[in-house]
Amino acid sequence: MDGLYDAQGRHIHYLRVSVTDRCNFRCRYCMPGRDIEWLAPDQILRYEELLRIIRVFVRLGVDKVRITGGEPLMRKNILSFLGNVAEIPGINELVLTTNGSLLEQYACGLKQAGVRRINVSLDTLNPSRFTDLAGQDQLDQVLAGLDKAQAVGLSVKINMVVMKAVNSDELADFAALTLQHPYQVRFIEYMPFGSESNRLLTANEMKEQLSTAGYTRLVPETSDESVAQIYRLPGALGTIGFITPISRHFCHTCNRIRLTADGCLKPCLLSNQEYSLRELLRSGISDSELMIRMKDIVFHKPAQHQLDANHKSHRTMSRIGG
Ligand code: SAM
Ligand code: SF4
Repeated sequence: MDGLYDAQGRHIHYLRVSVTDRCNFRCRYCMPGRDIEWLAPDQILRYEELLRIIRVFVRLGVDKVRITGGEPLMRKNILSFLGNVAEIPGINELVLTTNGSLLEQYACGLKQAGVRRINVSLDTLNPSRFTDLAGQDQLDQVLAGLDKAQAVGLSVKINMVVMKAVNSDELADFAALTLQHPYQVRFIEYMPFGSESNRLLTANEMKEQLSTAGYTRLVPETSDESVAQIYRLPGALGTIGFITPISRHFCHTCNRIRLTADGCLKPCLLSNQEYSLRELLRSGISDSELMIRMKDIVFHKPAQHQLDANHKSHRTMSRIGG
């Protein structure tokens, strides 16, 4: 069988690459404590090292790559790196996740580099709440970035992490964005990454809340997405997605593997299992040896996450990439 498969028979062809652990925001749910110690420069993979790992994965059958962080747009020369990734034959989809703060200035360059679609994290449309949640007064910059992304023709998904009694009263406002814009607004169940475990609002509760606000008809859309349930409000330009890592986990269809900025492969977001490739790369491992190692790591991907069994992550989300 060609391609990468794990012991459960899942076909793994989506690689998420974190290019930095640094970020100009301090989102409460991502960096609890907010007092972060950054990786030293030599702990972070150089672009050549990242490109080598991506190329080897593509030879093994990976066809979708997402660049994330920390905040990926904060890493120097990110556009030329993205251009190099986009040119790797075999990659059908190159996407990026960003907090949007630098998007106005980067949108055009992203498009030119070969990125077709971006996910922008935005949890509130209220300026003072934004400052409280992200630790920075930058809502206007993010909104300007969204406009610019749309203007240059990037396809945009907005990721809202929904937290009970924090921003859950804004569900209807976010849904309303899809009436006027071709965005896909994705409501993501909050994952308690070692903090505030009582913030979860399930997708069913979100749907009830939208219905109470007057959005009674969510029309299901067909989609090849494995992680989101997609709907459209009647007449809307955009769509609404629900991502349910907690209430209805999608582990059985998981097709992804993660590479952290310090060179660890993480076969599951919600497991502490990880395998460093950095020292192997730096001690002269050949591509064929690297392939064998990668196949073995993928094969041992955990069957499903352990979040409900009081999993405590050894890494903050910002050190994984989401
Ligand atoms: N800085 C970029 C951004 O914010 O989009 C990329 C990295 S961020 C770690 C990637 C994604 O992880 C974001 O969409 C963020 O909302 C999500 N995330 C972080 N902590 C989370 C949590 N506890 N539960 C659910 N999603 C989380
Ligand atoms: Fe930074 Fe993204 Fe984490 Fe917010 S979610 S602190 S923007 S890495």
